[in-house]
Amino acid sequence: MQTNIRIQQIQVSGIRRFDEAISTIPDILKLTVGEPDLPTPAHIKKAAIAAIRDDWTHYSPLMGFAALQHAASTYFNQKYQLNYDPEEIIATVGATEAVATALLTILNPGDTVLLPTPAYTSYEPVVSMANAQLVPIDTTTTGYKLTPTALQTALDEHVLDHVKALILNYPTNPTGVTYTRDELQALQKVIATAGIYVISDEIYSELTYEQAHTAFATLYPSKTITINGLSKSHAMTGWRLGFILAPHDLIAEMKKTHQYLVTSTSSISQAAGIEALTNGLDDGPAMRSVYQERRDYMVKRLSEIGLNYIYPTGAFYIFVQLPTDFEGSSWDFATRLAHEAHVAVVPGSAFGASGEGWFRISYAASQSVLRESMNQLALWRVQTASQ
Ligand code: PLP
Repeated sequence: MQTNIRIQQIQVSGIRRFDEAISTIPDILKLTVGEPDLPTPAHIKKAAIAAIRDDWTHYSPLMGFAALQHAASTYFNQKYQLNYDPEEIIATVGATEAVATALLTILNPGDTVLLPTPAYTSYEPVVSMANAQLVPIDTTTTGYKLTPTALQTALDEHVLDHVKALILNYPTNPTGVTYTRDELQALQKVIATAGIYVISDEIYSELTYEQAHTAFATLYPSKTITINGLSKSHAMTGWRLGFILAPHDLIAEMKKTHQYLVTSTSSISQAAGIEALTNGLDDGPAMRSVYQERRDYMVKRLSEIGLNYIYPTGAFYIFVQLPTDFEGSSWDFATRLAHEAHVAVVPGSAFGASGEGWFRISYAASQSVLRESMNQLALWRVQTASQ
């Protein structure tokens, strides 16, 4: 085949592959999808309908409508004390495009990007498209969080490999862990000495249960590219609206990448975004309390069933260890669970080699689906343990 060799090497994500493999199972209870089951708030939908009626149906400026940039500047300042001029914000096609635009803008062929793992699946393919290399930093022995020592070790080991950037994602998909301000400050010292960029994917910033979210750019403003968006905070995954926040010089470069990838995001979604950012400051916290109740319910049930998990303090995921008596991979486990108990979870290996031995539950599902799936998991455990 004559197509691009790096694209040929990219695999469809393990999350999608597994989801497709189990989708035909009748009555399957899905705890696989990483998207809110809650509806987009009504006032946001109304703003989009009004935008269509008022003919907001043409190209917007490349970086988004000025009103959206202003609303985002104010919102991220109020929420996380971030200080960005409206002109330092690009409205993107979800956080996904924001990540791609950031990586494709900063990376040269041969550069290295560090990534704490297990990690979300969308970073590695983009690093590969840029002809750069991704180096995982296994966090399984450090509480599923990157430590300054592990970061320094990776920097030392790759001192000749043009380490250009570190990707951070917290609250973290798939583990649900997040970092305290002190932990981030300790990381910042190592990062600043190395002088590398940080791409900080904070798409779950509204979903922290035990502590306020600290935006990394408040600690390292000059070289942090902040990624955020409305997909998770306002249940707006389908609207495709995200943001890149970064200093002027970086934004000027990223604007070019963004222009030739997508031109701009949808004008109608931008109208919805202005409403969400201006009058929807309480939407995220309202959703957070729904998820927090579900989180509390799920950890209680998992403990009763006798499964080990990482206590989640953010996002809407729980990373659970395979039962010690199970012989096989996380893919084998999730496949059997889907076929025999009709409960779908994501095999940990979908999040990199360091996720093997674990599986991910998403509790962005209704209370009745959560209850029924835990009942079926409990029953299946009893049945298989006695075999
Ligand atoms: N970043 C992380 C860590 C995610 O988990 C997701 C979606 O699951 C995204 C980015 C993509 O977000 P969006 O739907 O806004 O593109």
